[in-house]
Amino acid sequence: MTVIKKKRKAIVEQSDCVACGCCVKVCPLGAIRIIKGIMAQVDENKCVGCGKCAKECPASVIDIRARRSLPSVSTASCSLPRYLA
Ligand code: SF4
Ligand code: SF4
Repeated sequence: MTVIKKKRKAIVEQSDCVACGCCVKVCPLGAIRIIKGIMAQVDENKCVGCGKCAKECPASVIDIRARRSLPSVSTASCSLPRYLA
């Protein structure tokens, strides 16, 4: 049986981000960075959804939301015919 987990992640409304960098300074895992000097971007693989960045954001453009995380499937255990893979 496939179990789909939901994990909390920070989501940035990038069009309203002012690239101040406050979120970057408070993230304990280095999961958020400013890209191209114009907006924050979250690395979902590192983010644990602690919410520190959202509390710090002066523009209130970070939400902490549950995101679906699908389990990885190894090709060795895949039963699909090779042409469908
Ligand atoms: S929710 Fe926590 S771990 Fe995720 S980006 Fe914000 S501060 Fe970092
Ligand atoms: S704290 Fe908010 S406004 Fe500042 S860079 Fe991070 S997301 Fe953008």
